[in-house]
Amino acid sequence: MKTLTIEKLTKSYAKETVALDEFSLGIDQGGCIGIVGESGSGKSTLARILLGLESFDQGQILFKGLQIPPKKKKDYRDYRRDVQMVFQDATSALNPKLPIWKIILEPLDNFKEVKPSFIKEDGLSRKAVASHLLEMVGLEREFVDRYPYQLSGGQKQRVSIARAISLEPSLLICDEPTASLDVTVQFQILELLKKLQEETNMTILFISHDIRAVTFLCEKIVVLKQGIIVDHFHMKDLYKKN
Ligand code: ADP
Ligand code: ADP
Repeated sequence: MKTLTIEKLTKSYAKETVALDEFSLGIDQGGCIGIVGESGSGKSTLARILLGLESFDQGQILFKGLQIPPKKKKDYRDYRRDVQMVFQDATSALNPKLPIWKIILEPLDNFKEVKPSFIKEDGLSRKAVASHLLEMVGLEREFVDRYPYQLSGGQKQRVSIARAISLEPSLLICDEPTASLDVTVQFQILELLKKLQEETNMTILFISHDIRAVTFLCEKIVVLKQGIIVDHFHMKDLYKKN
C-alpha cells in the first residue's frame, strides 16, 4: 500500500483561479519526493490541503488507506501526529516568547501518549529530551535556554525541524524550507534533511521553486505548472536518455 495516494485533486479559489487541476500522485514510504514549480503553480495549496488546513473541491486523498481529512476524532489525531510540516519562514513559526526547549517540546506536550524511540531512558528531564532533539539536528545542547531572536536563520530552521521530527512522523512536508536562507546555509539544511530521512525512513515531500535544491535532495521529482503536473522524472533516469 502507498503511504500517500492523491487522486485527481482539484481546488479552485474562484472560477478563474484553478490552483490544482486533477492532480494525482502516489508516494511510497521513505525517500524524498520533490514538487517544483514557479510561483503560483499550486505548491502551497497542495501542502495546506495535505495538512488539513484547506478544503478541496474534488478528488480524494488517502494516507495509509485513510481518507484525508479523517472524519473520526482518533484518526484525525493520529494523522495530525503522523504528518508534520516545516515552513519557509522559521522566524514566524517559532514563538518569540518561549525558550528553545519549550518550543521544541510543544508537539510532544500535545501528544503526551507518544513515546519517541529516540528516548532510550525513563525519567529524562524535559530539557534533556529537548537537548537530545537539538543534537539530532546538529545544534549544541546549550541552545535549549536561548530564545529565537538569539539564533541565526539556519539555526532557527534547525529548531523547526527538531520540533517537526519530535513525533516521528511518517510524512514530513517541507514548503520552501531553505528559501529565506543564505546559499551555504541552504545546503546545510538540505544535508540535514537528507540525513534525517535516511536515518528514520520518513517520507519527505519537498516543495520548492529551486530546482537545484530539489535535485540535490529528491530522487523523484514532479513539475507543477498552473496546478497541472507537466513533467515527472526519477533522478536516476535523468542522464540515461542520451
Ligand atoms: P505556489 O505555492 O506554487 O506559489 P499557491 O498554491 O500559493 O502557489 O497558489 C496557486 C494559485 O492559487 C495562484 O494562482 C494563487 O494566486 C491562488 N491562490 C492561492 N491562495 C489563494 C487564496 N487564499 N485565495 C485566492 N487565490 C489563492
Ligand atoms: P546565518 O548566516 O546562519 O544567518 P548569522 O550571521 O545570523 O548566521 O549568525 C552567526 C552566528 O551568530 C550564529 O552562530 C548565531 O548563533 C550567532 N547569533 C546570531 N544572532 C545572535 C544573537 N542575537 N544572540 C546571540 N548569538 C547570535
